[in-house]
Amino acid sequence: MDHFQLRNGELYAEDVPMARIAEQYGTPVYIYSRATLERHARVFREALQPLGKIHLAFAVKSNPNLAVLRVMQREGFGADVVSGGELARAMAAGMPAEDIVFSGVGKTAREMMQGLDAGIGQFNIESEEEGVELARIADAAGRTAHCALRVNPDIDAGTHEKISTGKSDNKFGVPIDQAVAMYMRLAELPGLDMRGFAVHIGSQLSDLKPLELAFEKVGAIVSQVRSHGGTVTHVDLGGGLGVPYKAGEKLPSPADYGHMVARVTKGWDVTLMFEPGRVIAGNAGVLLTEVIRVKRNSNRTPFVVVDAAMNDLARPALYGAWHDFDAVKPTGEKMTANIVGPICETGDTFAMERNIDALEAGDLAVFRTAGAYGATMASSYNSRGFVAEVMVDGDKVASVADRILPEDIYAAERVPEWLD
Ligand SMILES: *Cc1c(COP(=O)(O)O)cnc(C)c1O
Repeated sequence: MDHFQLRNGELYAEDVPMARIAEQYGTPVYIYSRATLERHARVFREALQPLGKIHLAFAVKSNPNLAVLRVMQREGFGADVVSGGELARAMAAGMPAEDIVFSGVGKTAREMMQGLDAGIGQFNIESEEEGVELARIADAAGRTAHCALRVNPDIDAGTHEKISTGKSDNKFGVPIDQAVAMYMRLAELPGLDMRGFAVHIGSQLSDLKPLELAFEKVGAIVSQVRSHGGTVTHVDLGGGLGVPYKAGEKLPSPADYGHMVARVTKGWDVTLMFEPGRVIAGNAGVLLTEVIRVKRNSNRTPFVVVDAAMNDLARPALYGAWHDFDAVKPTGEKMTANIVGPICETGDTFAMERNIDALEAGDLAVFRTAGAYGATMASSYNSRGFVAEVMVDGDKVASVADRILPEDIYAAERVPEWLD
């Protein structure tokens, strides 16, 4: 459920008419709903609360906006970060360091030091080489790195190949059949406190079965480590729960997920950690855009050219992803159209042959479910600048990321004097 609904025939973000947001902030603009973020955070927490000791870490990469992170922090979420930049953001948003988990296959020595200096709660190590390096750095600095070893369970998550992370040919985690021996070796190293395992098999999962199989495999290695005299106090089950991108689509709910986790992890006696991103932020944001013109070629499907483009919302170009597209003031009439942005690439296409609300130049419309992996993937391609972001809270609206203009971007560029 979200708070982007029709009222008297026009779309509102909570209690704010979207047309007013367009007027005030221009388009394209991302709109986040605080109430929706909070609702999703609470539904997720309630689904997992019965599990006992849990730690919730919002996947910052899904939406790193400081205001969004602050909402999550107020909801008691920590952060799952995948770079030094995300770590700095999470801290800037007020997240306690001990609630931060650092994931990623390519943590640099500098990023490891940054995490150690901050005193983050956990590093999710993705290779033995990484563990050895982290141990050396932590030991030299007189610090202890609390760690989980990320395993690759070799399971097909059944999602888009570009967001699948749990197959043996993906770069993530260590092969699960080597995980126990590796864990025992790493546990011997000074500077490391090996405390458990982590697993994350992919994103936008529409079926719980692959997750269940992955968690069962993790449960087996937890037992094996313990039978070898090792200690396991934490298991990080990652994120990955999918969201409906199409109105009416049915996906496993957080409650379904919670029941499955409870069943599989019964008797593990660990703190269970979760790293949800999309399921919290996805439907808490929309991308508001204005139709520049409708281009009609005789006998062909018309092109609705909008002022948002693949640089603002990359998912359709990147993954062929679907975003529902609705007029802000629907008339009831429909049209079949191709929805495209202004960028000079055929890939700058949001939808082909889509049945949509009838639109004309100057009309406003939204791409729905754009709160996760939306603005954060933006680029300035075609010198379009960086898209603006606002948040609504009841009848309040505020800019949470100002539009960055092309001239602001090229102000950082230099023409060397030897070109004069
Ligand atoms: C991306 C990512 C997540 C979040 O995935 P969602 O599908 O957005 O829930 C969680 N953990 C790790 C390690 C990730 O890379």
